[in-house]
Amino acid sequence: MTSPSRQLAKDGAKALPFLPVYRPDLSGNERDYVLRCLDTTWVSSKGEFINRFEDEFAKYIGAKNSTSVCNGTVALHLALAALGIGPGDEVIVPTLTYIASVNTVLQTGATPVFVDAGEVDWQMSVDGVRQKLTRHTKAVMAVHLYGLPCAMDELTELCASNGVYLIEDCAEAIGTLYRDRHVGTFGDFATFSFFGNKTITTGEGGMVVARTPELLERAYHLKTQGVSREREYWHDTIAYNYRMTNICAAIGLAQLERVEEILERKRVVAKFYRDRLDGLPLTFHDELPATRHGFWMCSIALDDETNRDPLRAFLREQGIETRPVFHPAHRLPHCEHLARGERFPVAESISSRGINLPSFPGLRTEDTYRVCAAIRRFFK
Ligand SMILES: *Cc1c(COP(=O)(O)O)cnc(C)c1O
Repeated sequence: MTSPSRQLAKDGAKALPFLPVYRPDLSGNERDYVLRCLDTTWVSSKGEFINRFEDEFAKYIGAKNSTSVCNGTVALHLALAALGIGPGDEVIVPTLTYIASVNTVLQTGATPVFVDAGEVDWQMSVDGVRQKLTRHTKAVMAVHLYGLPCAMDELTELCASNGVYLIEDCAEAIGTLYRDRHVGTFGDFATFSFFGNKTITTGEGGMVVARTPELLERAYHLKTQGVSREREYWHDTIAYNYRMTNICAAIGLAQLERVEEILERKRVVAKFYRDRLDGLPLTFHDELPATRHGFWMCSIALDDETNRDPLRAFLREQGIETRPVFHPAHRLPHCEHLARGERFPVAESISSRGINLPSFPGLRTEDTYRVCAAIRRFFK
């Protein structure tokens, strides 16, 4: 997200505006809908926008059962909890992911089992998943990293034939298609995040999508303190308050009205990067056949990892913010022991060479041009 102070870049004599990696576009009905919450006093987790946002969201991705939550991390925890995953269970996760995918498994008491990434798509390797299946495997968590989908035909088939649950972490992948079908409609559960830098935002927020009404009911029960639908203040289990507020849902509904427009603008940005960076010693994290890349982040991997930090420093000097690709989870202090000494060479390589470029929908052509020109100057 953008820093509130509009930092100015020193680029010769001319000061150019700071380009953040992300800045949400709230120029639709967000303001009107939020004011309606304030005017009607429906500011908490009841109100018209909650149901409307949940229904419209499900309709958009082509699902039937969805419930909103207060962030994408608790969405994952709720899905795992609703499936009854806990101590003694193994959940197969990619090591190249945002930490929430791994931490939520740890929070249930289950064991995350890591899988390496694919060189081209950066997604969890299906062969890797196959090799990690044991009689303790309870679920596979497919994370659609940076907006490209995992190999869902292979993963759904593998999970079905082995009797393990499939959870999709779609935090980075609203609008991502796999064979013309939205991600989030393949798993027993799917989760989304609406953090400020995600493709659509509610400030903080998330969504849980379930394959069946029964699974949704279990998630809803755990989300709402385990309270009975019939009897007031009657709670029958240890549960959580993971509810979204009406104000967040109001922002979400307004964002959802423009999601295809936002995605289209991100595609234009991605195409510009792809074309203008062609021929440099780097690879653009591009769309693959039979997919629609959501381009949550426009990412590149440099051929030579020793250029990565110098390029980022060079861009920062010109007022261009970038992010490094995530550290593989097995390299983080509290997860290292889970890898039991195993190496994940592809994830490690992508992580050491990868950069997320400014990727927000409001990026203008001249901004994208400026980023590409700076990268070209670096390689001269
Ligand atoms: C952002 C993200 C999450 C967590 O979402 P929050 O809303 O920030 O809690 C989970 N998984 C992945 C892959 C993410 O990128």
